[in-house]
Amino acid sequence: MTYHTAPWIYPITSPPMKDGIVAIDDKGRITAVLDPASPTFTAPATAPEKHDGILIPGFINTHCHLELSHLVGKSQTGKTLLPFLIDVISMRETAQEAIDAAIEKHDAYMWEQGIQAVGDICNKLDTAPVKKKSNIRYYSFVEMFDFMQPDRAEASYDGYKTVYDGQSGALDGNAKSAVPHAPYTVSNPLYEHINALNDGNETVSLHNQETIAEDQLFLTGDGDFLPFFKGFGATLDHFSPIGKGSIFHALEHMDPAKRTIFVHNTLTTAEGIRTAEAWGQNGIFWATCPNANLYIENRLPRYDVFIAEGAKMTVGTDSLTSNWQLSILEELRTISRFQSYLPFETLLTWATINGAEALQFDDELGSLEVGKAPGLLALTGLEGRSPEDFRIGAGTRVQRIV
Ligand SMILES: [Zn+2]
Repeated sequence: MTYHTAPWIYPITSPPMKDGIVAIDDKGRITAVLDPASPTFTAPATAPEKHDGILIPGFINTHCHLELSHLVGKSQTGKTLLPFLIDVISMRETAQEAIDAAIEKHDAYMWEQGIQAVGDICNKLDTAPVKKKSNIRYYSFVEMFDFMQPDRAEASYDGYKTVYDGQSGALDGNAKSAVPHAPYTVSNPLYEHINALNDGNETVSLHNQETIAEDQLFLTGDGDFLPFFKGFGATLDHFSPIGKGSIFHALEHMDPAKRTIFVHNTLTTAEGIRTAEAWGQNGIFWATCPNANLYIENRLPRYDVFIAEGAKMTVGTDSLTSNWQLSILEELRTISRFQSYLPFETLLTWATINGAEALQFDDELGSLEVGKAPGLLALTGLEGRSPEDFRIGAGTRVQRIV
């Protein structure tokens, strides 16, 4: 048993505690959270280890593509989504040893950066060996797409089904599901295959409303997506626009019984949020990947709109094709810098318990509560002196304790 204390403890699911003490057993499980201000407080027999700053549970990264880690720095910034996607699709050929080494390195880096669990998009099996032995708990979202070509759905599904079968799942303490890539890349028959393969209480995810052209395709049927499709030998002959944003199309084809994470949502409106929330029967989560949004499109979502709608936000790093590092703290730093009206505690909630709930790992992760094994991090170098005015600034650092 070890005891840890710091000037402030943030259990997340209960208010910050001054000079609180967290007791953790040798398996990483919390056995007590002690509040010195409580009338029933008794000091532990062993003196607690003292840390600077605040103590929080491990971070949850709800959107990543670990298998793309070898592409770090390959796509230039600010090119907008479609040229970026062409880069990613055309640059994937790399020696297998380099791919494997990058996956191993960045899995270890994420753990060091305090990340406890990852919702990870995969199109291949490259990450499976690392996920089986990693300290990080993975939810593998095996992503399928056929560029909205119904005649390609069967072949596409067969290929990705092999990836699904081979990905690390419950046997390794992980989880997996089949997911559609984005509203503009999945045909109706492929949606049906995906929905049929997920026959339990899975979480699924979808890249959503990341660029103006995406909504334009569904609103009017034209725009920059037409040459994009043509470039991949795909036609839109069978496609008719719905006169609404892309999320409305996705809601017609996804399974409302699945817990669903919409990712990016840079252009999602209050109406889109409200419609999705009313549609979902088992929880809707909104993952934001601010550094990737800035990397690709120089644009961030309007977080105030999501907050006004009571939406549950989570945080993701996306991949190293569109980010400088895989660190949840760096995402929070970006949000604090560009939308500084967001309270510190709100950001911590997004990055911990909300993410754990989205991945259905909240029985173990996401908050400092007795019985959970959520990891323990020290955040140091915060701006401000107390919970009333703490802020993540340029000097804020994360250190993994457990
Ligand atoms: Zn992504």
